[in-house]
Amino acid sequence: MKIIFSEKCLEYSWPGHIERPERIRKALDLLRQYEFLEPEPASQQDLLSVHSREYVDLIKNAKAGSYLDGDTPAPENIYEYALLSAGAALLAAQEKGFSLMRPPGHHAGRNGRALGVATLGFCYFNNIAIAVRKLGKSTLILDIDGHHGNGTQEIFQGDQKVTFISLHRYPTYPGTGLSSQGNCLNFPLSYSAGDSLYLKTLEQALSQVEIANVKVVGISAGFDAHQGDLASLGLTHEGYREIGRKVGALGEASFRRARRRLHRRIRGQRPS
Ligand SMILES: [Zn+2]
Repeated sequence: MKIIFSEKCLEYSWPGHIERPERIRKALDLLRQYEFLEPEPASQQDLLSVHSREYVDLIKNAKAGSYLDGDTPAPENIYEYALLSAGAALLAAQEKGFSLMRPPGHHAGRNGRALGVATLGFCYFNNIAIAVRKLGKSTLILDIDGHHGNGTQEIFQGDQKVTFISLHRYPTYPGTGLSSQGNCLNFPLSYSAGDSLYLKTLEQALSQVEIANVKVVGISAGFDAHQGDLASLGLTHEGYREIGRKVGALGEASFRRARRRLHRRIRGQRPS
């Protein structure tokens, strides 16, 4: 497993804001044993594959030190930091790695604020959407962040190549994702869900996907559903481990099915 990371993502902060470099630093300390790769910034073309030009320009020209909305600040050079985070997602997709970067992205929709939500939720460009669009393959996006990925849903709603699954706390920000819509499968949960209900719900969610048709699984890996965190669903360390095992098993199940299909085909070709 390769970790995509740049020290640059620790450079910016906003006084008193909850989205801060410390969250990355803590994870960094635990992941030192892995191979690290340095990302390149995403291109304009990559951004424009999921966002409107007007919105990209809005972030590019944001006045340093201002607020874009009630909860999303514009620290100096935020455009460059957001480009690098999107570039990290692209590299993670290419390398089948894990992007340990900020700013996050899943609340950012095509024109910024998504599905009628009032704020960007500290997101600027939708990193996972940019990476999935570039791969252009049949993809399952699993969003395990404690908040609903309203931006990701908005971008991929109705997209035949993408299935979006989100397990999230409700009610809380952004207040969307109460029910499933077409290719976007939503599983709202109470703050008191805990490991057991969460994992049962995850299993139920994954059972609704024809995994044999999925070529790529992309994870929006926010960890704020951990007990006591911002969007706590009462998950423990062991709960997260089990999420990892279930996601890992998807690849094995898909491999087994592909192998069975191949064997059937070989048997069918044998002269009788
Ligand atoms: Zn979150």
